[in-house]
Amino acid sequence: MTMFDPLTIIKPRVRALQAYTLAPDRAPIKINQNENPFDLPTRLKQETERRLQARAWARYPDFVPVSLHEKLAQFAGWTADGVIAGNGSNELIQATLMTTIEPGKRVLISEPTFALYRQVTTVLGGEIISVPHAADLTYDVPAILRAVAAHAPDVVIICSPNNPTGYRLADSDLVQLLETTRGLVVIDEAYFEFSGRTVVPLLAAHKNLVVFRTFSKALALAALRVGYLLAAPELAREIGKAVLPYNLNAMSQTAAEVAVEMYDAELRPLGAQLIAERERLFTELQSIAGLAPVPSQANFMIVRTEIEPRRVFKELLARGILVRDVSSYPMLKDYFRFNVGTPAENDALIAALREIFAAEE
Ligand code: PMP
Repeated sequence: MTMFDPLTIIKPRVRALQAYTLAPDRAPIKINQNENPFDLPTRLKQETERRLQARAWARYPDFVPVSLHEKLAQFAGWTADGVIAGNGSNELIQATLMTTIEPGKRVLISEPTFALYRQVTTVLGGEIISVPHAADLTYDVPAILRAVAAHAPDVVIICSPNNPTGYRLADSDLVQLLETTRGLVVIDEAYFEFSGRTVVPLLAAHKNLVVFRTFSKALALAALRVGYLLAAPELAREIGKAVLPYNLNAMSQTAAEVAVEMYDAELRPLGAQLIAERERLFTELQSIAGLAPVPSQANFMIVRTEIEPRRVFKELLARGILVRDVSSYPMLKDYFRFNVGTPAENDALIAALREIFAAEE
């Protein structure tokens, strides 16, 4: 019989933490996870399968996925020795924090934002400095710069466009941040394709900039878990020490190469359609009394609602539409979030919201 409580071995700060989870709700129209509603085009799936058939499955994948790194470097406009591909960008967030954060170190974030930054920092014993957004849910740049001066964070993480607000930090503000901090500045560009802009051109002049990207959104590969990091080669070499060997399985690596090769022909047009649909949704929701959508540079948006968000969530679920109730996030008590779906799914969302809010009047 075990004579002690094994849980006493777990770090107290981990025990105090709530697990990062997502309720397993399902619905025919699933617009709660910012995924690509169009799926990966069949041609890309078939080409991935063809390449996998031709490869030995008994052999390990590359220790480091060099050919993917080279394709990503060309795709992103950076150098291959400054690229790390990961098992989702989540893995690279973890690797970056593992190689920088220990007790006594500080990470500055601006909340509400993607929850993983706080979670991983806390597990590693780092301290979170959290700066609230401005009242209009944009980044409060003067407040961030003041907090940088006051707390000298080792790492600043800015999600841009931000999940869940959809706001993109202006490049001039980022340059100011890069030049005033003595820490790393991490820009999570998970949604950059939907903003039409990137901070990658700033990498050459700013050796403290780290950029994360993912295949889970515009590249329609969330199931296969691929992300990548772009940074100065010296920095990438250090962060790479916390990435496990063979972190990317051969299937994911192959699919990612195919997606990059066929991006312009097959995936970029789908992204353009999602941007157009986002703008249509914004205009339509603005015309519904009781709703106030927030402008977004991503493939999702948050909406302020005069009906309690939990009720909107349930009313939509009853109509087969699954959105995200974000009302427990800081500053978002009156909001829900949805991602842009196919045109038909978006029509269904607009019709459902019209019905729910008409019944209120
Ligand atoms: N960063 C942000 C801002 C995200 O919203 C998400 C996914 N929701 C991720 C990273 C995770 O991406 P991946 O699937 O590449 O791990």
